[in-house]
Amino acid sequence: MNNDFRDLYQEEILEHSNHPRNFRTIEGASVSTEGLNALCGDQMTLDVQFDGDVIQDIAFRGIGCAISKASSSLMTTAVKGKTKAEALTLFEQVHTMLTVGPSADVHPEDLGKLAVLSGLWEYPMRIKCATLGWYTLRDALESPPQEGKR
Ligand code: ZN
Repeated sequence: MNNDFRDLYQEEILEHSNHPRNFRTIEGASVSTEGLNALCGDQMTLDVQFDGDVIQDIAFRGIGCAISKASSSLMTTAVKGKTKAEALTLFEQVHTMLTVGPSADVHPEDLGKLAVLSGLWEYPMRIKCATLGWYTLRDALESPPQEGKR
């Protein structure tokens, strides 16, 4: 990755951590899941509102470092409007990008805005920060809806 890209990606990550998207609560959400990264002290709650199989709305809240916040912010914008299956595919792709790195069969340029996360692969100490929101999303996708809601 050349330096211009690296700077651009860092700027984008900082921007998302300073102004996280979908940083709020969804009252009466279909599913709420919690994520914890004890290594860094990141804690989050994720609310998802499903319309059938589609993620109609998604929001997160909690405390965390810049990377966990930025990654969760990017995650919510990427999966809103997608089906559960599409979101799970995206989880797999991002997880591979973050844990296996450039040798992987995942091309960051195919992932739109999420490409900015690709540089984090070089910081193994921060991988749990970067993946926290995504694991919390996977939990939500695999949770049965709460009683009386869809
Ligand atoms: Zn963190």
